[in-house]
Amino acid sequence: MKRLLATTFAVALGAGALVAAGTEGASAADQRFISIGTGGVTGVYYPTGGAICRLVNKDRKEHGIRCSVESTGGSTYNVNTIRAGELEFGVAQSDVQYYAYTGTGDFASAGPFKELRSVFSVHAEPVTIVARKDAKIVNFEDLKGKRVNIGNAGSGTRSTWEVIEKAVGWQRSDLKLAAELKSAETGQAICDNKIDAYFWLVGHPAALVQETVSTCEANLVNVTGPVFDKLVSENPYYRHAKIPGGMYPGNPNDTNTFGVGATFVSSAAVPDDVAYVVAKAVMSNLDDFKKLHPAFANLQAEEMVKASLSAPLHPGAEKAYKELGLLK
Ligand code: GLU
Repeated sequence: MKRLLATTFAVALGAGALVAAGTEGASAADQRFISIGTGGVTGVYYPTGGAICRLVNKDRKEHGIRCSVESTGGSTYNVNTIRAGELEFGVAQSDVQYYAYTGTGDFASAGPFKELRSVFSVHAEPVTIVARKDAKIVNFEDLKGKRVNIGNAGSGTRSTWEVIEKAVGWQRSDLKLAAELKSAETGQAICDNKIDAYFWLVGHPAALVQETVSTCEANLVNVTGPVFDKLVSENPYYRHAKIPGGMYPGNPNDTNTFGVGATFVSSAAVPDDVAYVVAKAVMSNLDDFKKLHPAFANLQAEEMVKASLSAPLHPGAEKAYKELGLLK
């Protein structure tokens, strides 16, 4: 890991000053840097990365690891960048994790990423479609002929769009416009009437959805029917899901959809002691972690260490979970 092992001079000097001042803990030479790839700032990946770093950095003086968060294009970008050794950790959809590890889907041409390692799973990410009320989009099929944001290249959102597009038998030309904006730009686009709807895989509540429904009239869209039932029954990484009515203003009814899980991943190239510190910081402080975002409300430790994980657990994480009694 290039960056992980490199101690930059500037920061080494900073940390050296700490040591020189007599502060206990890791010396300058022990300082290590890790970055977490997330998503758009109004999504849930970005605050997820922030929550993880906050718990890691709390004990920085003991372990010498400094954690920082990067806003990125999303799941596929994060996995590819971990593979390139330019990020140590990232958040990725469970379907993207599966494609990457097995060399299928988006990863068919790059081949399997065998060094991909799971750390834990996080919140559920339902397929979420937010539409302008005047576009009268109630179920997925109503998107036909509309202006829809299908996700930027590099997002897990886009990868799942492509699977659904194929499953329903559509061509890109079945949409009036297939926009590829990043999630953070879609709220403005929908309220400015540049698009009729945005498609997104995200945890709830998500800041962007809150922002959209409070800025202009918009509704959540159901994603139900035999095509979606078949996708769920044939693929282990899909689940039926519900966005509860009343979670967002102006949307009193449940939205029925399906989705994936958000997972936290790394690479076998990241040292075991680093993955150990990160996994332990979160799982031994899970109550604190859960308070850091409302999408974490239902997380359960036993599930997080195994559900939705296709790649093997990182050995450092495995060691932490055994110590915590979460794994045998
Ligand atoms: N699941 C989304 C993606 O990978 C990102 C969601 C988020 O930013 O919370 O495209």
